[in-house]
Amino acid sequence: MSFTSTRLGKIKPSATVALTGLTAELKAAGRDVISLGAGEPDFDTPDNVKAAAIAAIERGETKYTAVDGTAELKAAIAAKFKRENGLDYTANQITVGAGGKQVLFNAMAATLDPGDEVVIPAPYWVSYPDIVLLMEGKPVIVPCPENRRYKMSPEDLDAAITPKTKWLILNSPSNPTGAAYDRDELKALADVLLDHPQVWVISDDIYEHIVYDGFEFFTLAQVEPKLYDRTLTLNGVSKAYAMTGWRIGFAGAPEALIKGIAKVQSQSTTNPCTISQAAAVEALNGPQDFIGERTEVFRKRRDLVVDRLNQAEGLGCQNPDGAFYVYPSCAGVIGKTTPDGEKIETDTDFVTYLLEAKGVAVVQGEAFGASPCFRISYATSTEALEEACRRITDACAALA
Ligand code: PMP
Ligand code: GLU
Repeated sequence: MSFTSTRLGKIKPSATVALTGLTAELKAAGRDVISLGAGEPDFDTPDNVKAAAIAAIERGETKYTAVDGTAELKAAIAAKFKRENGLDYTANQITVGAGGKQVLFNAMAATLDPGDEVVIPAPYWVSYPDIVLLMEGKPVIVPCPENRRYKMSPEDLDAAITPKTKWLILNSPSNPTGAAYDRDELKALADVLLDHPQVWVISDDIYEHIVYDGFEFFTLAQVEPKLYDRTLTLNGVSKAYAMTGWRIGFAGAPEALIKGIAKVQSQSTTNPCTISQAAAVEALNGPQDFIGERTEVFRKRRDLVVDRLNQAEGLGCQNPDGAFYVYPSCAGVIGKTTPDGEKIETDTDFVTYLLEAKGVAVVQGEAFGASPCFRISYATSTEALEEACRRITDACAALA
């Protein structure tokens, strides 16, 4: 009899988190590694946010809080949803967790019975299918082709839904592709969902602020108010406010679901970190101008990376609408041989070659459910990106 559960055997460790650990180890061992793996801004958390956390500590706000968030933070989140998304959520329709990841985890734990289906368009963020599997649900993966900019068509959504479908997880702008759904595309998906009243939706909006070229962000419940009663609008401070380590994510949803999420959280982490909650209040209520300034820096880096990668032999890279990832195809290097005589058969072989031969860490497309591709996070310094692109181009040129 195995000590670990069958359930555990169905999942794998997060590939993105694992790569962050591996590159830290390699760097500590003295290797010259450029890490384009982790999806976290290289910018610092703003000073006003740090100061709010320090002030909270000094005021003695260091004890447990209400399970799913302080009243102050819920008020700041309600104001954010109203101001930025035109959505009305009251305090009992809001939950706060230790990151958007925990909110998602709790929502799945609170709602999935064995065999319940969750529709996940691919490429997807690595954690979606595994969280569903851990809760004994069934991920239903919908492949979204490169020539549709990796976006799901209404027809494909309709075909994926069965009487057992409980959720659709929609992420725009997307991790890993950076593709974003515009208002009309969301409305077309919403029309399909209106025909299937048993299906609830997670709208993962964590990259909402990081959009380029005048793209106008909308969230699903805003585009189709008839879906408000079955949508969990997921967001957090990690990306826009450069607060990944503070671990604050939040969502707005119908009260019954929010209560279920709180029940799970009360039996796991109790409440999100008290000090981080105080910091998140300041992030959401304080000055927002820096977000646009930082997004402009990301845009320049996107342009640089897309341009350079398209010059590398065997790679092809689309121009994403948002987030801080590119998801180039490496179809043109498959079948080639490295200078050490290793054959590149998969995108995993290619990223292994990039790391071993050139010290560039990226994530294989296999982890995101669409191959042969790889993901680059360009949330790192322009100098590091330039050097990484040079190394990737050299690595491609060295293949025979
Ligand atoms: N959704 C997506 C698509 C993400 O890329 C991330 C980043 N890890 C999250 C949710 C959750 O982030 P966090 O747990 O830091 O809020
Ligand atoms: N979302 C980020 C990424 O994809 C952070 C790591 C994680 O939570 O997956 O790299």
